[in-house]
Amino acid sequence: MTSKPDKLPSRYFVDLTQPEIAAQLKKNPLVILPAGSVEQHGPHLPAGTDIFAANVIAHAVAERMDGLVLPGGPLGVTPMHMPFEGTITLTPGTYQQVVTETCSSTARHGARYLLVLNWHEGNIPSLAIAAESLHRDHGMTVLTVQACYVAAEMFGSEHGGEIEALAVLAWRPDLVHLDRIEGSSDHTHGRKWDKLRRTRAYQPVLRDIRTIAPSGWYGAPEHATVEKARRMLDGIAGAIAKEASEIFHLLDEAQGGTAEIKHLKKAS
Ligand SMILES: [Zn+2]
Repeated sequence: MTSKPDKLPSRYFVDLTQPEIAAQLKKNPLVILPAGSVEQHGPHLPAGTDIFAANVIAHAVAERMDGLVLPGGPLGVTPMHMPFEGTITLTPGTYQQVVTETCSSTARHGARYLLVLNWHEGNIPSLAIAAESLHRDHGMTVLTVQACYVAAEMFGSEHGGEIEALAVLAWRPDLVHLDRIEGSSDHTHGRKWDKLRRTRAYQPVLRDIRTIAPSGWYGAPEHATVEKARRMLDGIAGAIAKEASEIFHLLDEAQGGTAEIKHLKKAS
């Protein structure tokens, strides 16, 4: 976990050759799974906004923590956005299975630490179940970070709003169409519903995104720039890399079973 980042041509698993992957897993057995979704984001942002955000942040975190970014697949669990054509959803069971099998494959090749980096709320329950299994059944040390909440705490959040525009600007600026911004739903109404569904104690189930935003999105992305995007990416990736490194370190010391076994081995 502490090794210095090397000069790999890319941190994306799918860009690398077999010997490069083998050497990297040996050097530092950390893999990062970006989790997102494919869903409508209004007339100005691409359907892949959530997975692009997860990918670009995961890559920036991987550079800082010397890890590899797994191909998570673009799809997630997003039935709420299905009233709009730009949406494709998996069922929770399918998604959970894809996540578990993707990560457990790398565990068989020596990956030991897994950081799940999620940018889509609808994935949270499935990811929690997959994370349990990857730890208990496949022996990985697992940490999930809801990167969309980290970003929201640092920069604010609206579905289709500025931080999502910034995330895509950091990934591929040509996919952001600020000149096509039209029909943002009422901010006060959107914020009221988002606040209501994001408390720790109460979780209402919403059938349709239009309850929150009749046009499918709300926010004020018109002042998003590539420069702001770079700063946001740096801020979020830096914060996640720092916190995740500390938590992995604590898990190493405390991990039920693993630490005890190491201790017994030393004593004998
Ligand atoms: Zn989104």
